[in-house]
Amino acid sequence: MPYIYRCRQCRASSAPGTRRQAEDARQEHCDVEHGGLAPDGERIERVPGSTRHPDGRYVSTRAVLVVLLLLALAECTGRIASVAGR
Ligand SMILES: [Zn+2]
Repeated sequence: MPYIYRCRQCRASSAPGTRRQAEDARQEHCDVEHGGLAPDGERIERVPGSTRHPDGRYVSTRAVLVVLLLLALAECTGRIASVAGR
């Protein structure tokens, strides 16, 4: 489940990552940008619409290639069958 750190003062947010990565980003941001102080309105949020696995919402490339290959094979088979049927 990805998390981001968001600082409203700077209108900035970290890249999505684990809760731990978001907390590290928070610490680094507070140290670098705010002199170690915690800015108002900062928070760590779960990325909306995220799945348990970051890549889970994407269709696997291998599955797409297999489907395309099957379609190409079906078309070839159909053409061969239509030529042979003449
Ligand atoms: Zn900030």
